[in-house]
Amino acid sequence: MTRTPSTHSDFVIVGGGSAGNVLANRLSADGSSVVLIEAGHAYRPNLYPPDLADADIVTGPDGHNWGYFSDTGQLGRRIPAPRGKTLGGSSAVNAAVAIRSRPADFAKWTAAGLRDWTWQDVLPSFRAIENTIDGSDELRGRHGPLPIRVRRPEELTPSQRAFIDGATELGYPRIDDFNGVEQNGVGPYPLNIIAGRRINTGIAFLDDAVRARPGLHIVPDTEIDRVLIDNHKAVGVLAADGTEHRATTTVLSAGTYGSPAILMRSGIGPADHLQQLDIPVIADLPVGDGLQEHPFYYNIYALTPDANSMHPASGAILWAPSSSAHPGDLDLHVSATHLYDPTASPTGGAIVLAVSVTQPESRGRLRLDPHNPLGAPVIELNLLATARDTQRMLEGVRISRRIGTTAAFAPLVDRELTPGPHITDTELEQAILEQLDVYAHPTSTVAMGPVVDNHGHVHGIDNLLVADASIMPMAPSAPPNITTMMLADRIATWLS
Ligand SMILES: Cc1cc2nc3c(=O)[nH]c(=O)nc-3n(C[C@H](O)[C@H](O)[C@H](O)COP(=O)(O)OP(=O)(O)OC[C@H]3O[C@@H](n4cnc5c(N)ncnc54)[C@H](O)[C@@H]3O)c2cc1C
Repeated sequence: MTRTPSTHSDFVIVGGGSAGNVLANRLSADGSSVVLIEAGHAYRPNLYPPDLADADIVTGPDGHNWGYFSDTGQLGRRIPAPRGKTLGGSSAVNAAVAIRSRPADFAKWTAAGLRDWTWQDVLPSFRAIENTIDGSDELRGRHGPLPIRVRRPEELTPSQRAFIDGATELGYPRIDDFNGVEQNGVGPYPLNIIAGRRINTGIAFLDDAVRARPGLHIVPDTEIDRVLIDNHKAVGVLAADGTEHRATTTVLSAGTYGSPAILMRSGIGPADHLQQLDIPVIADLPVGDGLQEHPFYYNIYALTPDANSMHPASGAILWAPSSSAHPGDLDLHVSATHLYDPTASPTGGAIVLAVSVTQPESRGRLRLDPHNPLGAPVIELNLLATARDTQRMLEGVRISRRIGTTAAFAPLVDRELTPGPHITDTELEQAILEQLDVYAHPTSTVAMGPVVDNHGHVHGIDNLLVADASIMPMAPSAPPNITTMMLADRIATWLS
């Protein structure tokens, strides 16, 4: 392969996703030269294809998703592990739920020994990235690039409203804004959706004015193979096509699957694994270990013909503690969406009450494919690997099924599709294991602490940082998109 040298920049950022685009915006603001490299296509902010911009279509059209699957694992089958591949990354294909991680989550980061991540530390960045009309001035941001709006009751479908009423009937408090002080209860989602359009980070943080900055250079359709390292100092990256992009500081924002894969191909990872692949070991670090993902189970109901409206897809959520939650934790989600093929319902309409354990104990890992290190990584999710995780999932599904029988919700139901009526506890556990999916919230493969320091610097390698969801030390109890953007904003502040 012939290498093509490039000009030298202050920063090279690999991955134009949730984190990478925040960093590209922030780091180019003062005139620094920034090269942002993205494996997928780049679209002008207003020219994302309709089937990519439509917030009701999740996981993206063909060619905009890496198409990964998990390893077979203990569940005995491969589970799709979607990741966005375009400018915007996973924020361009996700459900656009915009909920921050909770103060209790950050207390755990601090307890794990990470300085500079207390709630008071992170709040300014949460406020800086958003603009919202919701909530209080003390907590919320009014002028940031990302618009966030709580779904209004009149925007919800009848069955999403009935879900909220049904949970309230069971005694769960009503929450008006999950980014407020109180989150234990049920209510409509806050979303980064405006007029049905998902506002991904390629739109919000890389608008036309930002893209016109002379120092910012976006390089789309370019996959990075590895980091160029000279005497334990990163000097840039090498693309799979042989192009070099040299920079003073190299930042990997390729996501929870992409960043560890690049590190390992660069010789930074578990020595035994790298040796198996004949990759010279530069730093023996537990890259890829610690993978966490939120397990997801779909309790699905066919709706009666007069209540089978399925738009908008994302509507409401119940966030609650399981009976074995640690004090202060909210570790169960029941999310009410219409992300389901209506033709699979006998009535032409359905609602999915999707249950997740959002503070899982189980951890998996990621490794390179020894036969094709540049191809799809080996993703060992290891979901529900502990008895407590399984028990909490069962408890969550029992809650969602109780909502299914409430006076508010039941009249809208034609029949329960999964797991189906008249099922024993043993059959329910079996059904969960057979149909388990992912919330698509992987984190922690390049965790702060073991692999990078509390500011994202890779241990033992100068001028190399990782800034994306992979560095979270543990799964957040909220969907991770907003927290990933906060994290990038914070790291940008330290680099500026
Ligand atoms: C289907 C789906 C639904 C989700 N729903 C929600 C939700 O509603 N709310 C929420 O909070 N979270 C949600 N998430 C999760 C959330 O979107 C992610 O946690 C977040 O986007 C992760 O940001 P990131 O910057 O770490 O990675 P990404 O946003 O995935 O960005 C990584 C970028 O790096 C690029 N890349 C990877 N490898 C390379 C390489 N070798 N060379 C060059 N570029 C590379 C990728 O193409 C991608 O653009 C969802 C995710 C998915 C997939």
